[in-house]
Amino acid sequence: MQQHWYHNLWLWSILYFSLGFVNILFALLGLISFCLPLLFAIFGGNKLFCNRYCDRGQFLRFFGSKLGLSRRHDIPDWMHSNIFRYGFMIFFFAMFGGILYTTWLVYMEINSLSEVVTLFWCLEFPWSWAGTTAVSPAVAQFAFGLYSLMLTSELIALAAMLYYRPRAWCTFCPMGTLTQMICKRKIATKG
Ligand code: SF4
Repeated sequence: MQQHWYHNLWLWSILYFSLGFVNILFALLGLISFCLPLLFAIFGGNKLFCNRYCDRGQFLRFFGSKLGLSRRHDIPDWMHSNIFRYGFMIFFFAMFGGILYTTWLVYMEINSLSEVVTLFWCLEFPWSWAGTTAVSPAVAQFAFGLYSLMLTSELIALAAMLYYRPRAWCTFCPMGTLTQMICKRKIATKG
């Protein structure tokens, strides 16, 4: 298969999570991963972002396919099902809403900044060495929340890649499900 520059975007995934160990504010760069697929879907009406420019997609392809780390078990039917995909998407965005709510509580000085990274929505790890006083506590709180969400989803994607197919995560990725909905809607309104 011909190698293109975007096949190296997996490096961005590694850099992103590494920078989160240095300064949590770098976690805000994760907003790019939220915005770009939406922009491609809304204005392009296509899945070009998923097919080429998603760093996580390239990460899974590189480690799963190229380095052969995937055990390539068949993806179970329930993982493809709409009920699971849409259910997971709603859950994921509800958790994102929870991050915004926590940020608001800190902004209103109802809660103080919590310098922890929360994995799988329940396991808290102290992360104060990467905290920052350079911005308001609310911005730092949002960064901790976003990094937690990004790292949790990356670990789920990694586990799915190792056991199932390299890009098994993409079958139920919330951004993939959302952009697919947008593209289908655009095609339907054109027709
Ligand atoms: S489905 Fe998600 S992880 Fe996969 S390529 Fe698309 S945005 Fe990236």
